[in-house]
Amino acid sequence: MNKKGKIVVISAPSGCGKSTIINSILGTGEIQLRFSVSATNRAPRAGEEDGVNYHFFTTEEFRNAIANDEFVEWEQVYPGRYYGTLKRELSDAAQRGENTILDIDVKGALKVKKQFGDEALLIFIMPPSIEALRQRLVKRGTDSAEVIAERVDKAEYEISFADRFDVVITNDDLPVAVAATESVISAFLAK
Ligand code: ADP
Ligand code: 5GP
Repeated sequence: MNKKGKIVVISAPSGCGKSTIINSILGTGEIQLRFSVSATNRAPRAGEEDGVNYHFFTTEEFRNAIANDEFVEWEQVYPGRYYGTLKRELSDAAQRGENTILDIDVKGALKVKKQFGDEALLIFIMPPSIEALRQRLVKRGTDSAEVIAERVDKAEYEISFADRFDVVITNDDLPVAVAATESVISAFLAK
């Protein structure tokens, strides 16, 4: 694959504030980054649009995409729920010389690092505590109690990957976390 554009990867346990931080950074338009739209077989949440938040695939479509070698990486992040970065998302951006930002899970992040080396920056967003994470998921109101419990249960496992990331940023005070994330991304893109 043509590797012209740089790749910024943001990972964190669900509910840490990844999407909030990414949307805030993309919203200012100060850093030129294109969001890589992943594929998933999970159902869209209220307000999510196909092709914007995710490419919403059926399980069969997802399996076909795996068989056709269409993914840079893919993971079964939760039982029965698949997520993957499509090669075409990165190759289209690279051809245009654009930098890309990925919101993917910790294992996917390490696979991207393995493939792209210094062209990829891995940022881990840390919650202030597991309890704060649980409260954010409850307050967000997009997931059932069962799904929230599943996500909180997985958080400690995901946090154990943090020391393999290039940068770890704690999202306690949101504006502080956004500023810190912007700053490390700007420095990486300027290199
Ligand atoms: P993720 O994309 O990591 O799953 P979200 O960006 O959806 O997480 O954030 C989860 C919830 O927590 C949202 O309702 C968001 O508004 C809220 N949130 C994000 N950052 C903070 C913060 N620093 N303090 C309090 N609430 C936050
Ligand atoms: P959500 O269902 O909350 O949108 O995402 C659940 C988890 O899947 C998050 O940790 C998110 O970062 C991860 N995820 C989203 N897209 C991808 C992807 O393309 N690949 C991998 N490996 N994980 C992804």
